Amino acid sequence: MTKGLIPTVLIAIAVALPLHAGTLVDLTHSFDAKTIYWPTAKPFTLEVVHKGPTPGGFWYEANNICAAEHGGTHVDAPVHFAKGQWTVDQIPPERLIGPVAVIDVSKRALKNPDYLISAEDILAWEKAHAAIAPGTMAFVYTGWSKKWPNKKAYLGTDKPGDVANLHFPGFSPEAANLLVERKIAAAGLDTPSVDYGQSKDFKTHVILAAANILGFENLNQLDHLPATGAKVYALPMKIAGGSGAPLRIFAELP
Ligand SMILES: [Zn+2]
Repeated sequence: MTKGLIPTVLIAIAVALPLHAGTLVDLTHSFDAKTIYWPTAKPFTLEVVHKGPTPGGFWYEANNICAAEHGGTHVDAPVHFAKGQWTVDQIPPERLIGPVAVIDVSKRALKNPDYLISAEDILAWEKAHAAIAPGTMAFVYTGWSKKWPNKKAYLGTDKPGDVANLHFPGFSPEAANLLVERKIAAAGLDTPSVDYGQSKDFKTHVILAAANILGFENLNQLDHLPATGAKVYALPMKIAGGSGAPLRIFAELP
């Protein structure tokens, strides 16, 4: 046995594992100083309270954290854009677990930072697979997660407050209306917003929120999911009255 053989075998196993049925794929970006927030939002900060040995003889670590609701991998509760709809803590847990349809538009989106996911993109997916069933989550892979955590590439701007120069793909209002017709549970994608960067009226947010449909933004690793058959577990922090919340989200492969 040569010296290099064992590492090669281990690497092969590590690469093969994500394909196994039941494997969990983490769709979450970590929260740290590099986590991307809206240019006007407070970013994630972590203040170390204590990290080290104590006079009592035990090891102790604890931190304070602070962040906007809407940043990093997070959920938009419907109340974010529709008065009287669910706040984060009002979202029924059964809405947070379910099957997912994964629509890959990355070939077209990566050529156009203002790409609008169209109703045709969704209809083409349905033609290739099946009609999106009620209660399904609809996630779109644009390829934007590969740009994370490069703010300039991901948002279109790295200047605080610079909302005029936001450029990233989002759902067109026509696509949002079609997804409302399909009675999906949630719409998600790997960009900062369900509306594209140049949106001024946030129509897609308004359409989805009015139908009490959740939004999942800044998702990761959607390219590791099959078009159909995976099951999503989305676990937001239960903020009382929250309009959104940091989200731990993963999917189980079929
Ligand atoms: Zn949001």
